[in-house]
Amino acid sequence: MSIRAFNIFSIILILVWIWADKYLSIGAPSYGWLLLIYVSVLFCGSYFIRMGFFLKSICSVKTNEKWIALSFDDGPAGPTSHILDILKENEAEAAFFCIGKKISGNEELIKRMVSDGHIIGNHSFSHHPFFDFFSSGKMLTDMIEMNQLVKDITGHSPRFFRPPYGVTNPNLKKAVMKGGFISIGWSIRSYDTVIKNQYRLLNKIIPALKPGAILLLHDSSETTVAVLPELLKVIRHKGYQIVRLDKMVNLNPYD
Ligand SMILES: [Zn+2]
Repeated sequence: MSIRAFNIFSIILILVWIWADKYLSIGAPSYGWLLLIYVSVLFCGSYFIRMGFFLKSICSVKTNEKWIALSFDDGPAGPTSHILDILKENEAEAAFFCIGKKISGNEELIKRMVSDGHIIGNHSFSHHPFFDFFSSGKMLTDMIEMNQLVKDITGHSPRFFRPPYGVTNPNLKKAVMKGGFISIGWSIRSYDTVIKNQYRLLNKIIPALKPGAILLLHDSSETTVAVLPELLKVIRHKGYQIVRLDKMVNLNPYD
C-alpha cells in the first residue's frame, strides 16, 4: 500500500468510526491509539525498504535460477581493498554502493572496482545521520554531488541508488524520481556491521539464501572480510551462481 492510499484509508476509517459512534453508539474512538497505530505504520513503512511503502525499491528478483547478487555499502573504507582481493580470487562480481565523502583519497579503489568488473552505485555523498530529514532538493543535490565524483573518476554516472540506512520517505521518492535514479534495496540484511561473531554472521546469511536474492553487506566491516571467502564457497556449494546486480535485475547501472 502506498502512503497516499494509506492516508485515504486512515481518513475514511476515522470518519466511518465517528459516524458509527454517533448513530450506532459503538463507543468513541480512542484517538491516542489511532494515532499510535498510524505513526507505527509510517515508521515501519520508512524503515522496512522491502515494504515499498514510500518508494518502490528493487529488493530481489523473481526467478527460479539460483542467482545471488552481492552488494556492499558504506565504502570505500579500510577493508575495501581486502574485499576486492577476495572477490577477485573467487571470480565474483559485486555492486558497491559508495559514499561520496569517502571517495577523496580513495580514487584508486573506485577505479579498481570498475576495472575488476564490479559496478558502482550511489549511496549519497554525505550519508548524513539526518539525511532522511533533508528536503527533496537537498537530497538530490547530495546525490548528484556523489554521481559527479564517480563520473570524474570512472566516466560513469550511477543510476542505482541505495537509500542511506535503507530509510525511505516521500522526499526521497521525489529526489529519486527527479534524479532518474533506480532505488535498490535488499532481501537479505546481514547485519555485518553489528554481528562481530563470524559463525553467527554466516548463520544469519546462509539460511536466507534464495533464488534472486540481493545480499546486503558492508565493505567497511572487518568481520565481512573474515567471512567472505567462506561465504562465497558456501553460496557456490549450495548451487548458487553469483550474478552482478545489474545483470540480475537486467538494467543498465549507469546513465
Ligand atoms: Zn549506509
